[in-house]
Amino acid sequence: MADTSAAGESLYCKEPKVYPRHVTGRFARLRVIAVWVLLGLYYVLPWINVGGNQSVLFDLPARKFYILGFTFWPQDFIYLALLMVTAGLSLFFFTALAGRLWCGFACPQTVWTEVFVMIERWTEGDRPKQMKLDEAPWSRGKILKKSSKQFLWITFAAWTGFTFVGFFTPVRELTDNILNLTLGPWETFWLVFYGFATYGNAGFLREQVCKYMCPYARFQSAMFDQDTLIISYDEERGEPRGGRRKNTDLEEAGLGECINCTLCVQVCPTGIDIRNGLQYECIACAACIDVCDQVMDKMEYPHGLIRFTTENALKHKQAHVLRPRIFVYAALLLVIISGTLWSMTHRTPLRADLIRDRNALYRELPDGMIENVYTLKITNMDDVPHQYEFVLPDDADAQIDTSKPMALHAEEVTGISVRIRMPRSAGQGVQNLKLELRAEDEPSISKIIETKVMLPIEFGNK
Ligand code: SF4
Ligand code: SF4
Repeated sequence: MADTSAAGESLYCKEPKVYPRHVTGRFARLRVIAVWVLLGLYYVLPWINVGGNQSVLFDLPARKFYILGFTFWPQDFIYLALLMVTAGLSLFFFTALAGRLWCGFACPQTVWTEVFVMIERWTEGDRPKQMKLDEAPWSRGKILKKSSKQFLWITFAAWTGFTFVGFFTPVRELTDNILNLTLGPWETFWLVFYGFATYGNAGFLREQVCKYMCPYARFQSAMFDQDTLIISYDEERGEPRGGRRKNTDLEEAGLGECINCTLCVQVCPTGIDIRNGLQYECIACAACIDVCDQVMDKMEYPHGLIRFTTENALKHKQAHVLRPRIFVYAALLLVIISGTLWSMTHRTPLRADLIRDRNALYRELPDGMIENVYTLKITNMDDVPHQYEFVLPDDADAQIDTSKPMALHAEEVTGISVRIRMPRSAGQGVQNLKLELRAEDEPSISKIIETKVMLPIEFGNK
């Protein structure tokens, strides 16, 4: 790295490798459950079919997204917008309530790193063994352990890349393509790219991603206030820290409850010391809470020297976690989520646009009827075929003809020529006409189309 400062000091500071110690406890259990559920969904969902389609498939060439039995079309862009709004609001809600809950338990970087760390522990042992192995000279045993770890990491990363592509190309078709060596260039690129990104981020960069690359770490403090739950060391209770025997009288010895065992630092995946106060590097994984509670058990001190608490609770002994902004975020989320679900389950699986022929205003037929020509763009968004028909209002003085029967396969889009005829006596100039297009087998699937019919204007001398 180049020396750029006048004093010859390097502007680059090499980060020491973090060897997080294995921890057990209630939050560690929660994190393992989160990893199993989230990664389980990721790896299993593409293999499950719902309603005849892959449960989650983003079919970009066909411009259709299949999600848990729903089919989303380009016209359903509103749902993507609502999803983004829900994600943003959820981030505000959870951050205001409990800080970086997302980072510690649900962020992809956290869950994949957790698996890579598990693999590292299986192959190289826990923190002390890993540190010893890294310091030891290369030997047969070291090569075996390191290569087993690399093999498992690469296999897992490749499977992750494969699954990622399986959300865009039907996963069974993708498997066949791989087995028959007929994988396309884009599929190959994304499989390798995503696999490589997983390997690099979860295997090597780990906490560096959270510390230097993730924008959320930088702006999350804007969503915090004094009543946000944060993981914090109780300085008043813990200081002065120091070693002691189990039954030492703390008052006599002039000590707080922190025995300065540094286990909270050793378990930290970002390598920080929570006793130095709230730091942006803390991803709120709660590993330090678990390990410190175990130390407190051994010393027969109460739990919670490190705990979820608020700045107000620590400084002023007052906690107001459930405050107005939390209820406002929760109410907004509830309204948006329930509104979106209602709209998705009640939407009509039919789209139809009646477009006027621009070449002629109207045509006069030998029998005296006036004819207007249109193109009907019709989309059957349902997953079963339908035959459609036009229904005119009882008082409409009009006839409708179509160039072919309006029978559409499931998810078919087609254009049909439509002719609307009216007698000259129906009026002059522009006439508004309201039509209903509906499925013959399922009258609840219908759409009202409002169009204009042009009739001749007759001037003066009749
Ligand atoms: S684990 Fe608890 S007792 Fe040990 S150093 Fe950390 S805060 Fe102190
Ligand atoms: S300080 Fe504690 S909660 Fe924060 S990242 Fe480290 S171990 Fe996790």
